Amino acid sequence: MDIIICCFYIMTSLYLENVIIKMRKYRNLLTRDKINKEDIIQIVYKTGSVRKDVKFQKGKFYAYNALNKEIRYEEKEIYSNYDLFCLNHEIGHLQDDNSNRIFFFSIMKGIERMVFLPLYILSIALTFLYSSIFQVIVLIIGIVLLIFAFFQLYFICKYEKSASVYALSVINKIDIDIYEKFSDVCLKQQFLMELLEVQIVLFWLIIVG
Ligand SMILES: [Zn+2]
Repeated sequence: MDIIICCFYIMTSLYLENVIIKMRKYRNLLTRDKINKEDIIQIVYKTGSVRKDVKFQKGKFYAYNALNKEIRYEEKEIYSNYDLFCLNHEIGHLQDDNSNRIFFFSIMKGIERMVFLPLYILSIALTFLYSSIFQVIVLIIGIVLLIFAFFQLYFICKYEKSASVYALSVINKIDIDIYEKFSDVCLKQQFLMELLEVQIVLFWLIIVG
């Protein structure tokens, strides 16, 4: 069984590598046309149906903060169509966020990363010392992690996709095919990363179990 998971892991990794190469290629194409620093938010207002009360905050990367409904965008000297797409993608999350489901998923991801994953690794290590009790703990945490991962896969398919659909609907139509391809590989990248996590959890669950 573990051999099968290993084979899937290698195949997923190779596919992910291919997706990342394409992602870089489309990203480079989208950074050709430059946008003035002062104009980026104005363009977003003009092209989309963004509410005037949306809070934009400069930061290190593009993100939607579901807790205070704030859009973070990268602080840089020169912007491009790539930035416009990312910014509109985050606005897409905000437009989606009627029932705070994105907030729920963000909290879930945080708990997974900060609590369950470290506990899982620790429990796996401890099974080599105290096998029976930690075998049960690994089993329980592993199942919890798998449930979390499937929720995340659902989140990617539904909310990441719809945020990109929003972004594609408001950006300039000239390079639409490049935007579409970029959006597609970004989605695949997130999905494959989560899938790799599922495979690692499953692998150890079977080894320890
Ligand atoms: Zn997103």
